[in-house]
Amino acid sequence: MKTEVYSAVSQKENGTRLGADLIRRGQIVAFPTETVYGLGANGLDPGAVGRIFEAKGRPNDNPLILHVARKSDVKALWTSIPPVARQLMDVFWPGPLTLVYFKSDIVPDEVTAGLPTVAVRCPRHKTALALIRAAGLPVAAPSANASGKPSPTTAQHVLEDMDGKIPLILDGGPCKIGVESTVLSLTGTPRILRPGGVTKEMIEAVIGEVQLSSAVLAKLDQSEKVESPGMKYRHYAPDAEVIVVKGEARAVANRIKSEYEHYESCGFSCTILATEQTKTFYHGKNYVIIGDRDEPETLCARLFSCLRRLSGSTDVILAEEQPAVGAGMAFMNRLLHAAGFKTLQA
Ligand code: AMP
Ligand code: MG
Repeated sequence: MKTEVYSAVSQKENGTRLGADLIRRGQIVAFPTETVYGLGANGLDPGAVGRIFEAKGRPNDNPLILHVARKSDVKALWTSIPPVARQLMDVFWPGPLTLVYFKSDIVPDEVTAGLPTVAVRCPRHKTALALIRAAGLPVAAPSANASGKPSPTTAQHVLEDMDGKIPLILDGGPCKIGVESTVLSLTGTPRILRPGGVTKEMIEAVIGEVQLSSAVLAKLDQSEKVESPGMKYRHYAPDAEVIVVKGEARAVANRIKSEYEHYESCGFSCTILATEQTKTFYHGKNYVIIGDRDEPETLCARLFSCLRRLSGSTDVILAEEQPAVGAGMAFMNRLLHAAGFKTLQA
């Protein structure tokens, strides 16, 4: 299959029309959102949904998120709309917040991996909204990477993983947020299953205290119940060993330097993920500056493209722990998953 890339700006109308046609005909289209690029198909057609799992190599027990163009479209997908969902939709939709609630009968089991609940989001990106509106149906869309790899934040990343597997990529330039949506379950006490573009603090300012799944910042125990199946898999992993060094900033830098020297003496190449504040510690070593420690949003926006760039070009990536508050929580969640939860204490 030939994969066409259409500019979401200069080929806007044609791209939207072609994309919507393909989706209505059961095919897959990659499109930009404010979080990461998505791989979209008709969310009410089990065959089309099956093609997403095939293209990604995604385990079929990992459910998908349905994307809608209007808040009112969620009515057909859930058994009802709980008041807390209305409050959140009013503030955060369109935007990077996914809500999980009990599914209606029209949602195929292939989307939810057999769960009684379905995750729904209304994205904010113009191209995404135009495509979903033109398709006229809920669009099931996971991140447009091969399963396990870092999520794509540019059309080029999508092409690297999906060339020849899908007919069309809409290129809308780099994604602003760069990490996936926050997934919030509303089936009981509101609970964050995956941190993302909307922070815990932002949600709590609207509906009061919310719970945080234990799988967000720690590895799941074999015996623990999996609340969000996606969290049990190694994720976001580049072709390199990622190690996260935890602790106070100065001690972290010192430990990273000694690990670097150790790996180098064993013949492995290393790269350090540094910040503006810590780069001077790593003078004479290979490092990339991922951003400013005080701007976790920027760290999020650059993480996946950094991991993709380093993938295959270094043996070991040594990364500093960042404070897991605000957008830093999503950053640490993705980084720890990329490391397969391999950490060292400084
Ligand atoms: P991705 O498609 O890569 O953005 O991943 C979607 C995430 O949403 C995964 O972590 C899924 O496990 C999670 N998810 C989707 N649907 C549900 C659901 N019904 N209940 C809990 N988690 C869900
Ligand atoms: Mg994904």
